Amino acid sequence: MRAGAAARTPAAALPPLPAGDFSAWLSSALAALAEEAPADVPCGSCNACCRTSHFIHVRPEERRARARLPRELLFPAPGLPPGNLVLAYDEAGRCPMLVDGRCTVYADRPLACRTYDCRVYAATGVPTDRDAIAEQARRWRFGYPTADDRERQAAVLAAVRFMREHPESLPSDAARVQPIRLAVLAIAVHESFLQGESGAQPRRLPTDAERARVIMAAGEKLFGDG
Ligand code: SF4
Ligand code: SF4
Repeated sequence: MRAGAAARTPAAALPPLPAGDFSAWLSSALAALAEEAPADVPCGSCNACCRTSHFIHVRPEERRARARLPRELLFPAPGLPPGNLVLAYDEAGRCPMLVDGRCTVYADRPLACRTYDCRVYAATGVPTDRDAIAEQARRWRFGYPTADDRERQAAVLAAVRFMREHPESLPSDAARVQPIRLAVLAIAVHESFLQGESGAQPRRLPTDAERARVIMAAGEKLFGDG
């Protein structure tokens, strides 16, 4: 999640954007989920995710963010252990830290902002319910220079299909109703949906029950669901 310049061209006039080669993007997205590296999204002047009614999760250990964010804008995070907070948004759906189109706490922004990457919607085909983000997500174009790029996206799409067809496999009601959770889970568990060979050996495909267990475990790890 980035916060750039205030001026924006109407989305209809905006050209496609290169999202990177699919497998390379997927690796970086998984690293961001594992908190090994922030998402490196070429946001340009977009700040859509800072003005689309998101409650921003702030974890207990995020001392720098907590020191910068006004206490009166932080509230206990529903369903999470004490110490977890959310940063509220204003009546227009904007993060109060967004001033003149820029993030005023950018260097100390919460982890949720550092790891947000709207390319996940383009990668998974999961539609976001936030129009401004959807407009940006529609612009991304991945590259597929190798078979691996196509196989991994096919696995991501298969993971989405599986979770839609087996909603009982999802770890929580939140995962069932929040597009971002479905999309993030799909990339997190995509290895379980890879087809074809693994090295020189035919790949043994997991059973539905095994896939459901992988999805549950990913939900627990990523969102504290389960
Ligand atoms: S919506 Fe996407 S491109 Fe726009 S600021 Fe957020 S992450 Fe960046
Ligand atoms: S803290 Fe900064 S990056 Fe995060 S939503 Fe607010 S303005 Fe955007």
